Amino acid sequence: MKIGIVGLGLIGGSLGLDLRRLGHQVLGVSRQAQTCELAIARGAVDQASPNLAILGEAEVIFICTPLDAIQPTAEQLLPHLSPATILTDVGSVKTPVVEAIAPLWPNFVGGHPMAGTSEAGIAAAQPNLFAQKPYVLTPREKTPVKGVQTVAAIARSLSAQVYYCSPEAHDRAVSWVSHLPAITSASLIAACLSEPDAAVLELAQKLASSGFRDTSRVGGGNPQLGRMMAQYNREELLRSLQYYRQSLDQLITHIEQEDWTALEQQLQRNHQTRTKFLNPSAG
Ligand code: NAP
Repeated sequence: MKIGIVGLGLIGGSLGLDLRRLGHQVLGVSRQAQTCELAIARGAVDQASPNLAILGEAEVIFICTPLDAIQPTAEQLLPHLSPATILTDVGSVKTPVVEAIAPLWPNFVGGHPMAGTSEAGIAAAQPNLFAQKPYVLTPREKTPVKGVQTVAAIARSLSAQVYYCSPEAHDRAVSWVSHLPAITSASLIAACLSEPDAAVLELAQKLASSGFRDTSRVGGGNPQLGRMMAQYNREELLRSLQYYRQSLDQLITHIEQEDWTALEQQLQRNHQTRTKFLNPSAG
């Protein structure tokens, strides 16, 4: 298959590495000539250019730009496409993207591979990034079945696990398990940095081990991505943050009141139910 990728960064580059390995012809577009050259050198694409016109013959095109560039990219791309071209994206928020692009291009399938690292750019691209990870598709009722099936088949060929839901359900669910953790983890790092005693702060930094590594990982990731997730999923993120604040207040109250029984009961519930969020295939 001839597959196009716009935005040759962590996600676009990783997708290209896998798709080429699977035998597809991959055509890439990125703004900077330097990114295009690096993508070719890394084997993520067969050809690359800053010019969207090279995607005219692609059968499926993945838009892998930052969230704020997905809609403008789609608008610039459409004049180059034939009606049969299947367009999809990988944006971390779905409602605003689907609402903007589906009316312009019926053959658009919103998508979100739930995989990433704390790095960005083509240099960070890696093979098998999507293997054993969820890949969410958010078609609308009118989205042509063939387009949905084609994107789903490509996602499965990456060994990803495909899920279907509405864009709205996606945004609420990922707010809990992706966007809320990113923001609370960021606030954890900021809180640690507020230690006023420089010697204690330095000691804490030396002593930080696996617990800090696990809990700070998503808050210490790509700042531009974190900002866009908050900006584009603002309402759902604020909603989950309000619940989080209540939950934190409750834990503070137990500790202030030395209600160790209540605290342990809460921790016990967490211990038992945490595994429900840890889909073994989601890694
Ligand atoms: P990234 O590593 O920063 O890559 C984005 C790439 O897009 C850049 O390398 C940039 O290369 C290119 N780009 C930027 N603006 C562009 C524009 N206007 N037109 C064309 N290309 C442009 O970001 P990423 O982490 O791959 O994220 C890309 C998308 O994947 C985002 O929508 C994000 O929400 C989604 N996503 C990210 C993750 C994650 O954990 N990182 C996970 C799932 C989904 P040039 O400078 O050469 O243009």
